Amino acid sequence: MSLKKVFILMLIAITSAFAKPTIYILATGGTIAGSSSSSLSSAYSSGTLTVDKLISAVPQISQIATIKGEQISNIGSQEMNNEVWLKLGKRINELLSSGQADGVVITHGTDTMEETAYFLNLVIKSDKPVVMVGAMRNSDSLSSDGPLNLYNAVSVAVSKEAVSKGVLVVMNDEIHAAREVTKTNTTAVDTFKSPNTGKIGSVIYGNAKFYMQPTRKHTKNSEFDISKINLLPRVDIIFSHSNDNPDFINTSVKNGAKGIINAGMGNGNVYPSALNALANAVQNGVVVVRDSKVGSGETTNPGEIDDAKFGFITSDNLNPVKARVLLMLGLTKTNDPKKLEEYFLAY
Ligand code: GLU
Repeated sequence: MSLKKVFILMLIAITSAFAKPTIYILATGGTIAGSSSSSLSSAYSSGTLTVDKLISAVPQISQIATIKGEQISNIGSQEMNNEVWLKLGKRINELLSSGQADGVVITHGTDTMEETAYFLNLVIKSDKPVVMVGAMRNSDSLSSDGPLNLYNAVSVAVSKEAVSKGVLVVMNDEIHAAREVTKTNTTAVDTFKSPNTGKIGSVIYGNAKFYMQPTRKHTKNSEFDISKINLLPRVDIIFSHSNDNPDFINTSVKNGAKGIINAGMGNGNVYPSALNALANAVQNGVVVVRDSKVGSGETTNPGEIDDAKFGFITSDNLNPVKARVLLMLGLTKTNDPKKLEEYFLAY
């Protein structure tokens, strides 16, 4: 090899060693992209700023990464749906597997962020960082939390330590694992918590540190594949309470639900007439997952209700909205309750 060629190869190696990672920001809407006519009002509209505006509002992110932006949707996350999930999941897989991106940051409303995070945690086929971020205060608010949250999210996405940790949620200086995180307060900036495990790391002005490792299967080790899927089966959530009735369960079955997550009382308990309706649902081929509305802890199998007797399966300690995501994906592969229960113990 000529001296000139060796020099050029060395130059390429040195340049790429110092090149900034490429991070794609995929914007879906939410309060982080929200605006208001007042800096002191809780009235505002979600999803009004475009991805370019979000990026230009935080020029510091371009110092740590080559930033590219794409608009996936621009909605309040209460409008999130399977179509956007599938589009988002497929696009992230494409960006990460082609090498176009070293990591992805998704801006998202906080209302359903935990659901999207867990969905992506199960369908992304890469160990590169995938980080979700939002804000509790819109861009016009006094002390808006969006800009620093976005800077911290990009910082986590370029961190070597974020590799192989599954999808992460970065909010309010904390890093949470997708399976564990949930929104716990309607308005507070420290709304995101992981009640069963705690946060897995922190990120203070871009300085990311991890203290824990998610142990349940995710991303590269997940068997769920959306590459050829355009529709997901209907799974409903039913909320249990005193003096309950079977009507919602019967309506759900009548309208073609393939699965029901019952957000039961305490350790997954159910009012007698509703319990009967759930047992009938199983007889009609609907998969019933016994879960809890409590917000933390396991739904044990058996508990006061013997799942084997009714043909139910247990959610382990997944909350109802995440159990819905796992059951939808599980039902794309099997209807066998035994196999589906294995998923609940593995993911
Ligand atoms: N409904 C809004 C959303 O989820 C508000 C929550 C937020 O982004 O903070 O998009």
